Amino acid sequence: MAEAHSLEHLVQALRRLPGVGVKSAQRMAFHLLQHDREGALALARALDHAAATVQHCALCHTFTEDTICHTCLDPRRDRSQLCVVETPADQAAMERTGAYKGLFFVLMGKLSPLDNVGPKDIGLQKLFERIDAPAQTPTGMSEVREVILATNFTAEGETTAHVIAQALKGRGVVVTRLARGVPVGSELEYVDLGTIAHALVDRR
Ligand code: ZN
Repeated sequence: MAEAHSLEHLVQALRRLPGVGVKSAQRMAFHLLQHDREGALALARALDHAAATVQHCALCHTFTEDTICHTCLDPRRDRSQLCVVETPADQAAMERTGAYKGLFFVLMGKLSPLDNVGPKDIGLQKLFERIDAPAQTPTGMSEVREVILATNFTAEGETTAHVIAQALKGRGVVVTRLARGVPVGSELEYVDLGTIAHALVDRR
């Protein structure tokens, strides 16, 4: 009886993963227990360790094990530009183009009213505080002069970009959006690098 309870507990835990229903969760649990005990333990340890050590960067909100991530600390970066993306994977896509040398802000999500994801569920407040914060510059102005909205070209990504653009009005920064070379409905992560690079150059 105790074993059955443990198994049920594991299936319920696996169902927390996005897109995993009862059937898939059962398959994963059976597989791990039947064929890969070692993998199961490695997975458990990795989850335990990551959940205990990974936090959000104090500046850009992405995942890091430090207070401030290495990208934000990189002195070669242009600190006047801040590119807003939805996920670390989108940031990586922008980085791979080699066309962008500024800083990032990673929302870790997008506004999605249908899924009950509102401004408080993603990093919006932190983004606005970042823009408003008087930086250690001679002028006392925020270092960020341009915010480049690089949320995905999906309905939610466009909504998110619109909300941010509205909120940043009157905060003393230029707000631009990646140009329309990126196909409608697409996620940056899956767009080819040349297209992203062009969209960056042609932003307005
Ligand atoms: Zn950072």
